[in-house]
Amino acid sequence: MSDRKPTIEAFQAFFREEYEREAPGIEGTGRVPLELRRRLAESGALRLTVPEEHGGFGLGMVDALPYLEAAGMGHGSGRMLVHVANGLWRSLAGYGNPQQRSLIRGMGSGDVVLALGVTEREGGGGRDLHARAVRDGDCWRLSGEKHLVTFGQFADWFLLLSATDDRAASDSFSMFAVPRGSNGLVITPQPTMGLAGIGLASLRFDGVTVGGNAILGRIGQGLAVAGSFLDYSRVSLCACMVGLAQRALDQSIDFARQRTTFGKPIAERQAIQVHLANMHADISAARSLVWRVAERYQRGELVSTEAATAKLFCAGMVGRVTDLALRVHGGLGYTKETPLERIYREARAFWFEEGTAEVQQVLIARRLLAG
Ligand SMILES: Cc1cc2nc3c(=O)[nH]c(=O)nc-3n(C[C@H](O)[C@H](O)[C@H](O)COP(=O)(O)OP(=O)(O)OC[C@H]3O[C@@H](n4cnc5c(N)ncnc54)[C@H](O)[C@@H]3O)c2cc1C
Repeated sequence: MSDRKPTIEAFQAFFREEYEREAPGIEGTGRVPLELRRRLAESGALRLTVPEEHGGFGLGMVDALPYLEAAGMGHGSGRMLVHVANGLWRSLAGYGNPQQRSLIRGMGSGDVVLALGVTEREGGGGRDLHARAVRDGDCWRLSGEKHLVTFGQFADWFLLLSATDDRAASDSFSMFAVPRGSNGLVITPQPTMGLAGIGLASLRFDGVTVGGNAILGRIGQGLAVAGSFLDYSRVSLCACMVGLAQRALDQSIDFARQRTTFGKPIAERQAIQVHLANMHADISAARSLVWRVAERYQRGELVSTEAATAKLFCAGMVGRVTDLALRVHGGLGYTKETPLERIYREARAFWFEEGTAEVQQVLIARRLLAG
């Protein structure tokens, strides 16, 4: 594995060419070949923001943005691997014991895949979670379910958020690191609309026993652990959304130049030019917003409201841009003959990752009304 940070040009080429060549296979099988994951890790993509003491390049948020945008332009499974690995290590670094922190190096080298289980079918998130952890001597017994877990099908470790008492208060939850293969852990694939290869899965755990040292941080710090990378993660997603929207615009420009109707390329029709201009304006506004939040994050400022605002805007933006891209492509865009069909499906996942628009609106309004 190289010790040198990848150049942005090499990184872009990897996602646009090498990874893209494998996209039809990933779409067909729903799996990212192990060899491709190995090459992705070798490119350094999984340790861009990981601190040097854990084997990474230690990039700040602003410096990571061009890489995240480039990953966003590629297949959704690749951008998800980059997005999660460069975000989730924060929970281990901030709250893990030495054994848990040692997983970070493996995440960066691609040898360890970590998944986070927060969302539940029956609960609403936060204090409305139903998974339970009960003391059993020196151990804990975990029971409950999680679903929509990214990498659930192939992760080596799971971080599972469970209640450790029944007060339904914010300090009633704890985060547990649970290895794959634990007795009583049942993993069921959840096939998705897009993002083939991310291995989304639901988990059932019936009395899974883990040691007392499986907790991240202290008892009652579970929501803090889950939130410890949320601001970073929302900004990271925004950069990926800008990348995917830019790809949709690039594809639309190419298509508009080559598609001729009534003797002229549609690029020469004002109706199409207006679509392209509006897409560009939307993407440019989103990119500026993301840079501004990233700069403040890198300076160490608290940016929770700004990150939620950027997430809200960018999710709307990527929806609008891919809608217009589909219109520019006409009926062909609805077929698998053009990359747009996949881009359109992948764009919709952003509406849910790290919280829906409605959740961001609640967070933003709460802050607006508090002052
Ligand atoms: C591709 C993908 C990857 C994901 N990866 C992970 C992962 O790795 N780990 C993980 O834990 N989760 C993951 N998720 C789950 C994701 O975080 C949730 O889907 C998202 O937070 C929404 O929660 P929900 O699906 O339970 O929707 P619901 O809570 O069922 O929401 C349904 C609708 O009701 C609205 N709603 C719900 N509650 C309220 C409220 N209080 N006020 C206003 N409106 C409300 C929602 O905004 C939405 O419109 C992933 C999801 C996707 C699609």
